[in-house]
Amino acid sequence: MSNTLSSEPSHQGSSTPQSPNSHDSVSAGGVSIAPPISGAAAKAISARPIEYAAFRPRIGMIVGPLASICIAVWVATMLSVQVTGLLVVTTAMCFLIGTVLVIYTVLRWENAESAYERERTAAELWNLRYENLRSEFQRTTSALSHMTDGVVMLSPKTEIVLINEAARRLLALTSGGQYLGRKISEMVRIPEIVGAVDRAGKGNIDENVAVEVVDGAVVRPVAVRVNRILETEPPHLLIVLSDETEAQRVEAIRREFIANVSHELKTPLAAIKGYAETVELAIQDDPESAAHFIAQIGKQCDRLEDLIADMMKLARAQSGKGTLLIQSLDLEKVIHHAMTSFLPVAGAKQIDLKVIPSEKPVHVLADEEAALTITQNLISNAIRHTNAGGHVTVTCRREDGGWVMSVKDDGVGIAEEYQERIFERFYRVDRTRKAHDGGTGIGLSIVKNLTRALGGRVGVISSPGKGSNFEVWLRPANSQ
Ligand code: ADP
Repeated sequence: MSNTLSSEPSHQGSSTPQSPNSHDSVSAGGVSIAPPISGAAAKAISARPIEYAAFRPRIGMIVGPLASICIAVWVATMLSVQVTGLLVVTTAMCFLIGTVLVIYTVLRWENAESAYERERTAAELWNLRYENLRSEFQRTTSALSHMTDGVVMLSPKTEIVLINEAARRLLALTSGGQYLGRKISEMVRIPEIVGAVDRAGKGNIDENVAVEVVDGAVVRPVAVRVNRILETEPPHLLIVLSDETEAQRVEAIRREFIANVSHELKTPLAAIKGYAETVELAIQDDPESAAHFIAQIGKQCDRLEDLIADMMKLARAQSGKGTLLIQSLDLEKVIHHAMTSFLPVAGAKQIDLKVIPSEKPVHVLADEEAALTITQNLISNAIRHTNAGGHVTVTCRREDGGWVMSVKDDGVGIAEEYQERIFERFYRVDRTRKAHDGGTGIGLSIVKNLTRALGGRVGVISSPGKGSNFEVWLRPANSQ
């Protein structure tokens, strides 16, 4: 960004003694500001004559002595004075006049020097003030130009006296256009903004409006606040514009998350309610069925518990590094720990689950619990999405200076179009499986967030019918 001051080219807008004229406007770093006084007034000030102080020889200094000599010669001739007398008189007069002139000149020099000193000190002072003002101006304009919020200041007649780059962008104004001195209603054709400016100008109440600004193909939500600034004389208006796109996106994600969580909680709860009602009816007549329904209630409760536990893990993973204790750890130990809880499940499903040990010790930088969660989620997914007789293999290898843990299965696989989306919260490829496959739909989202918090990355290579290979890259322990 350049902070050099430059004059903006003129425009044809109105100009009154109070109103700014773009002839005199300054722009720096994308901020245009109209000066508070008109160009004519500024010129009148700069044309003020500096007090004359320099020494200049005068014609009288030559004419005076010559005239005196002539008068002396004439007087002497008239008085018939001899040549010697004439010379004495002339010399005496010259001496007298010369002495007077020398004294006069010396005095004038002294006056000139002190006047010059006064002017020089004053000029230095003004220069210092100018430099201070200039650097203050540069600081203000660079702060305004770096702001993500748009700022527009209006005169009491609602003419633009200051506008920054963000305001131009948020109001979809072309950046090369001339706006200073022009009425806001001429430049911005958004009735809500013009109305808010009118109302704020008439009363002392701040106005807040939310508008949608169409900028080519983009429709941008913008929050607009109009304040009356009483500190300026006469009071000006200040418009502050904020881009609401990100806030609305976050709000949409939050709403979607709440909708997903409610839905996920509602399903097991509805099942529990249904089973409980049935148990009530069956407990007398059919104790066997009642026991079955009670077991189902237990299962649904487990599911609810899993879901809540996973959501808490996700919240922890999303809060980033802060909650993790990142240290050197043996990843293979963590894998073996995870394997112990899955071997019975894999055995029951007739899946061959194994770890192929690495030749070198696998020391990575990670939080132990996070590494265990990542490993458990990937192994659990691999077992759940592999049919009986399939294989799940966990290996570690060196790559890019770190370690890659691979969890490979020969299960159902994932089509390419879903491979990005499976890392989103509650995204499932086969939505019909959710009720009975035991997944919560947030396992991979936890894996992605935890891996990111550990400074690593996760990816998948998969093809439908052939299986999937989930790979997690983690930093090596010796990099710190
Ligand atoms: P879930 O709890 O449903 O498994 P995840 O976030 O762990 O949720 O996984 C999201 C989706 O990704 C799963 O519903 C499934 O469709 C797919 N998926 C994950 N792992 C595998 C895998 N090893 N093989 C095939 N599909 C998988």
